[in-house]
Amino acid sequence: MTPATPAAAIDLTDAQIERYARHIMLKEVGGEGQARLLGASVLVVGAGGLGAPLLLYLAAAGVGRIGVVDHDVVDLSNLQRQVIHDTGTVGMPKVDSAAARLKAINPDVRVEAHAVKLNRANVLDIVSGYDVVADGTDNFAARFLLNDACFFAGRTLVSAAMLRFDAQLSVFKAHLGEPHPCYRCVFREPPPLGLIPSCSEGGVLGALPGTIGSMQAIEVLKELLGIGDSLSGRLLLYSALETSFRTVKIRRDPTCPLCGAHPTYRDLSHHA
Ligand code: ZN
Repeated sequence: MTPATPAAAIDLTDAQIERYARHIMLKEVGGEGQARLLGASVLVVGAGGLGAPLLLYLAAAGVGRIGVVDHDVVDLSNLQRQVIHDTGTVGMPKVDSAAARLKAINPDVRVEAHAVKLNRANVLDIVSGYDVVADGTDNFAARFLLNDACFFAGRTLVSAAMLRFDAQLSVFKAHLGEPHPCYRCVFREPPPLGLIPSCSEGGVLGALPGTIGSMQAIEVLKELLGIGDSLSGRLLLYSALETSFRTVKIRRDPTCPLCGAHPTYRDLSHHA
């Protein structure tokens, strides 16, 4: 890694040097890393439980351009965990409620609202516009769509999922080749509809997405900065009831239909 350049030498304003002082004093970030964050872009899919801490921390960290995808409006039942929204924004499109909050936190950040549902026709365009993609969706169809789209678009995917008291987190960048697995190397196909409930069906402890969404933000920042050990090739499992973290190794599967030696998925036509 190249040594940190003094912050003043890379065009940070005085206000930015003050705002990001606690980053700049970290030798792994420094003024150079902060400038890199300001020049970076992240797409957050889902402005819900996971998206809330993700978006708040990425904006506070000074990620220069943040895309938010969500086609839903804020519902009263969201507020138990989706802390980026508040009682006054109930009924408002989630992307607008989130964008207003992010701009209030950090005017350095350009927020791009995508009030759409991702599908095979629009996902590649949207995903390709950002450096890193973070999956905060709540359903398997979206998770597999994002995995496949990020692979084809050559984008790193920071993926999290949760239910009730349990959560998982990993990083997928199979487009870089061996040894990086994709989501399909681990979970081949979506489970039959209705087999595994979503949070709206099965419930979730409100602070759980706070924990795992914040960790997801950390992994996004690590990928942008190129620091530390990437979570690619490992799946982190968190049990809130046990208060336990486990990390299991996950491997690239040569028979994977997406990133394997003889792929059968060569485009997104198998998606809705
Ligand atoms: Zn794969």
